[in-house]
Amino acid sequence: MPQRRVRPKLPEVSEAQRKSRLAWNQGLTGTSRPAVERPAFEPCPADDCGAPVVGRRPPTAGMVQVRGAADGAAAHWYCPVRCAAIARTRAELRAIPLRPGGENR
Ligand SMILES: [Zn+2]
Repeated sequence: MPQRRVRPKLPEVSEAQRKSRLAWNQGLTGTSRPAVERPAFEPCPADDCGAPVVGRRPPTAGMVQVRGAADGAAAHWYCPVRCAAIARTRAELRAIPLRPGGENR
């Protein structure tokens, strides 16, 4: 699970800082609630989402076909809005040529 980044806390060294903090949080003291642990995005519950395209009909009605990043790469079926947008974006990002000297993982 990805860790949520936490801004480092600066030490409170003056009375003005303390007054400013209390004014901002309306006098609340103590520690705040821990951040809710949530994944970066929820995985799709549809079984056929991301299935490779075989034939002309989608495995589930309404799914859309998204082409792969490279020429000749396999296309896949995705749910119409969210999953298709994620797949298209991923394919576009993969199609960006790397600069010389850039990382290639
Ligand atoms: Zn999906």
